[in-house]
Amino acid sequence: MTTRIDCQERDARDPLAALRDQFDLPQGVIYLDGNSLGARPKAALARAQHVIAQEWGHDLIRSWNTAGWFDLPRRLGDRLAPLIGAAAGEVVITDTTSVNLFKALAAALQMQADDPQRAARRVIVTERSNFPTDIYMAEGLSAWLARGYTVRLVDAVDELPQAIDDETAVVLLTHVNYRTGYQHDMAATSTLAHARGALIVWDLAHSAGAVPVDLHAGGADLAVGCTYKYLNGGPGAPAFIWVPARHQARFRQPLSGWWGHAAPFAMTPHFTATDGIGRALCGTQPVVSLAMVECGLDVFAQTTMDAIRAKSLALTDLFIALVEQRCAAHPLALVTPRAHALRGSQVSFSHPHGYAVMAALIARGVIGDYREPAIMRFGFTPLYTSFADVWDAVEILRDILDRQAYDVHAKRDAVT
Ligand SMILES: *Cc1c(COP(=O)(O)O)cnc(C)c1O
Repeated sequence: MTTRIDCQERDARDPLAALRDQFDLPQGVIYLDGNSLGARPKAALARAQHVIAQEWGHDLIRSWNTAGWFDLPRRLGDRLAPLIGAAAGEVVITDTTSVNLFKALAAALQMQADDPQRAARRVIVTERSNFPTDIYMAEGLSAWLARGYTVRLVDAVDELPQAIDDETAVVLLTHVNYRTGYQHDMAATSTLAHARGALIVWDLAHSAGAVPVDLHAGGADLAVGCTYKYLNGGPGAPAFIWVPARHQARFRQPLSGWWGHAAPFAMTPHFTATDGIGRALCGTQPVVSLAMVECGLDVFAQTTMDAIRAKSLALTDLFIALVEQRCAAHPLALVTPRAHALRGSQVSFSHPHGYAVMAALIARGVIGDYREPAIMRFGFTPLYTSFADVWDAVEILRDILDRQAYDVHAKRDAVT
């Protein structure tokens, strides 16, 4: 039987333990929601102070050049690239994930439309269980283009081989499911899509900084993802988009703003896309927010995704085992796959009163979140979550369940 002392011993042996000190976490909080909003790197405060007081306040507009503001989407993209198996010059940090999905999907559809062999394909395949904005953006783009595109929703992973057919233009999948934590086999699924003549766009919102990703080895065509989740970039921090070098010349996206122009300051009245990844940009970036992304990346630069993955699996294994041992009397059902290869860096359990139980946990300082239907979601972020945190979180959960100390009539907050 595992004890709290065992957990503390694991913390003492944990090669990543020291990194926790680089985050500002409030006393009395066990933060298991870094999959939704990453914790604040301590360095972000001084960095924000510098950007606001010095770069903006003192240097004013000169900072576009002197502080490298103009280059920031590319420079930070290059720093993110190794975490997702991308090369330099293939990633920019810009806009939101939803907007980048629009650009990536539009570009992928256009690449197919430009190919005489594939120009008649009109179907976008994705999963019904995908994060809603991914489906909504695909729907919106399809309707807007008015070229007869439709979105085909697949209900189970094993239906993908049947659903991806010779009508399929693009497959859009989220690598790690936001609700269940299920992780797709990227290489196998990309191979399947390509064998059927489709392109594949991967959403890495719950993968970047959470699990090792190798976009090149995984055969991805385009990818997008968030920086405010596992990458700890701050609330609403700009997202990223990846266009591999092999597709850049063919990549055309409809949000052809001046930041994607070959000569933005030539101020010509017609758009000519710049070469390279810059063509994925649109307009002026939220520089203060963008600058914060670097503070998160600075922490990742001190370790490897393999080390993070090893600890992530150890944390999620421990959480599953402890919940199943110590809360066995309660109607909790594991939603996340047990197989390591199929698991991201979160664990979801359903409970008939999931919302109320999660509200009670949050009131006791164990911050996870709730997703319909009845799912309590716990994100594990190896940079700042300890094994003792896992023990303590499960003990608080057990106590709440044993005493039924939750309010089944709890009023829902606007953001769950
Ligand atoms: C979090 C998340 C998003 C968020 O998109 P925003 O544009 O940042 O609101 C999109 N897709 C997936 C799969 C996500 O998990």
